[in-house]
Amino acid sequence: MYAQIIVDIAHSQVDRIFEYSCPDDLVKGSRVKVPFGGRTVDGFVMEVGETCSIPPEKVKPVKEVFDELPALIPECFSLMERISSRFRVPKAAALRLFLPSEMRLGKVREAYEKIVKIKDSSPSFGKTAKRQSEAYAFLKAEGECNYTQLCEKFGRSAVNALENKGVIETEKRRLHRAPFKGAIGGGQPKTPTYAQADALESIEKSNRRVHLLHGVTGSGKTEIYLRYIARQIELGKTAIFLVPEISLTPQMLSQLRARFGGEAAILHSGLSAGEKFDEWWRLRSGEAKIAIGARSAVFAPLSNLGAIIIDEEHDSSYVSESAPRYSTVDIAKMRAEYNDCKLILGSATPSVETYKEATEGRYNLITLPERINKRPMPEITIADMRSEVKRGNNTAFSAVLREQLQSTLEGGNQAIIFLNRRGYSQTVICRDCGYVAKCVNCDVSLTYHSEENCLKCHYCGARYHMLAACPECGGVHIRYGGTGTQRVVADLKTLFPSARILRMDNDTVSGKDGHFNILKRFAEKQADILVGTQMVAKGHDFPSVTLVGILDADMSLHFSDYRSGERTFQLITQVAGRSGRAGMKGNVVLQTYCPENYILRYAVNYDYKGFYENEIKVREATFFPPYSLICRVMVTSENDKTALETLKDVYFALEELRKLHPDKFLFINKMHSPVKKIQSKYRYQVLMRLKDGGLSEKIYDIAVKFNRNDCPVYVEENPANLS
Ligand code: ADP
Ligand code: ZN
Repeated sequence: MYAQIIVDIAHSQVDRIFEYSCPDDLVKGSRVKVPFGGRTVDGFVMEVGETCSIPPEKVKPVKEVFDELPALIPECFSLMERISSRFRVPKAAALRLFLPSEMRLGKVREAYEKIVKIKDSSPSFGKTAKRQSEAYAFLKAEGECNYTQLCEKFGRSAVNALENKGVIETEKRRLHRAPFKGAIGGGQPKTPTYAQADALESIEKSNRRVHLLHGVTGSGKTEIYLRYIARQIELGKTAIFLVPEISLTPQMLSQLRARFGGEAAILHSGLSAGEKFDEWWRLRSGEAKIAIGARSAVFAPLSNLGAIIIDEEHDSSYVSESAPRYSTVDIAKMRAEYNDCKLILGSATPSVETYKEATEGRYNLITLPERINKRPMPEITIADMRSEVKRGNNTAFSAVLREQLQSTLEGGNQAIIFLNRRGYSQTVICRDCGYVAKCVNCDVSLTYHSEENCLKCHYCGARYHMLAACPECGGVHIRYGGTGTQRVVADLKTLFPSARILRMDNDTVSGKDGHFNILKRFAEKQADILVGTQMVAKGHDFPSVTLVGILDADMSLHFSDYRSGERTFQLITQVAGRSGRAGMKGNVVLQTYCPENYILRYAVNYDYKGFYENEIKVREATFFPPYSLICRVMVTSENDKTALETLKDVYFALEELRKLHPDKFLFINKMHSPVKKIQSKYRYQVLMRLKDGGLSEKIYDIAVKFNRNDCPVYVEENPANLS
């Protein structure tokens, strides 16, 4: 037999199929080792057949077959074609997405344990063999036992003697390294409310492929996902459930564990290699049927998918930051089409792009406007920090937030203090009047670059002088960015000496259990106040939290991104949604230097529709997505000159493209990237704004043409950040 093989080298020169002779029982999807140009490389079996197009004497044999079960399911090859043509990446690079990287590089293998069982059930023991008879009695009671543990209890010689006599036997068994064993229990199925039942029925009945579950925070979206998954499992199907940050959502995890037990497997970059390997194979072998995880779990090795769910679909973590730079929703759509199953997107604050699809009828829109049991949404109070400055208050806390913290603590409840660190130390703001410097061409906030002491626009590259005084009011209290978590904790300790405070940010957490442990301690009420950055905003459900303080609510408003309004609205809604989730009323204090901003107004009233209708008009008028495509071609190299020369070539080629399609281009320019150097690589870019995605393939083709090992060139479409 002959195999058609894709070698695991992601390079355009070997991006084709090679033929080898192979054993008769080799199957499509297997990973193999093959001789290739004088060395041995890994390969993927695309097809096995009886014919071969090269002369038999020239065909080399497959050297080794890796797994008993082929690692790649047939669907992988279909997606491989689509991904490699969409993003112009070699087939091997597309296939790699389907395998945990540690597994590909052969760094991890199965783990086994030695199990002891009784073989002869009526042995006789001499008087001297006391330990042997004890070990036997123990084993009889237990049924079976781990070999090492048995030896520790009764001594290795006794155990070995029993084995030699044929009284017991040992067996090698596959060990399952399970992640997050500490996930707390709970999570019995709940009787669905009418709204939940209607939502489920709508998903079931609608003939749309994609469903948007737009439900306010606390409206019970999770129960809908879990029920839909359970139904698919009953039908003998499988499911993928994506969440932005699984290590940040222990409650979600415990609910899934409680509900589905071993049928659920977790795929997450924070797992150890062994855990990931075992969880992955449990899915591949069919032992587990539900894959839960972050972005990359969209590639879970499950056949016969019955549902794909993307919770918090608006989250920017769903955009890949390494090649190919896919959007998770796009991949999920491909898989949903292949399996003819439904894709459910859920959010309290859908992305503008998604909501547009839904309101225009391409997605099935399901709205849950109320919290479970008609619990009120928390009341949001705006604190105007400009007047605090005028009154001489230079702490990070407004008077109203201090008062509310006081009463929360007195009532024995918990509070979350959220620090908006996005755009930290980059945005320039006048503390007297709230003025923020903006680009005259692009209407986005400028970013301060300390090394050149100037302000820059990330969308057109324009440069401005740094401000000495505010051009609006002449004030000199110009400030860059916000306060740090440490400072906030210190302030809190002075204000509330007896309060127990937990801090959660990138400095305080390490390892995959770090977040988990802090959140667990907070959930167990071992602390009164949790102070944190973006990490505390995610979907936690702490019943005792009745107050959320948002410091610097406007910091993300002025982030130099066309989505800054959208991001701010999302952030405020998400953070506010942590308050008052159980019986008690929730409060939120939102501190800002620009209280009149329309985004904050909509957020305070939980008016997503109002926000959307306004935002979509702005996008249309300013030609930002979804009314255009932001496309960036990055050129990076350790050699500054190489990068710059390549940039010129790339730009020239793109200019040629523009001359052919002038009507498709709204903007094109070449420039330094905002961050000029990362990991000793110089960074340049061509930035484009295009009418639509019609030229994408041609742009990818140009990037591929200039891409070299010492000077990678790659394309990003609507990148999540432009740094
Ligand atoms: P969302 O994901 O929409 O923010 P959750 O799924 O976290 O909301 O649900 C909010 C709260 O309501 C949770 O504490 C959950 O346990 C509870 N809940 C959800 N559905 C029901 C139900 N049918 N009956 C009672 N409580 C429910
Ligand atoms: Zn001013």
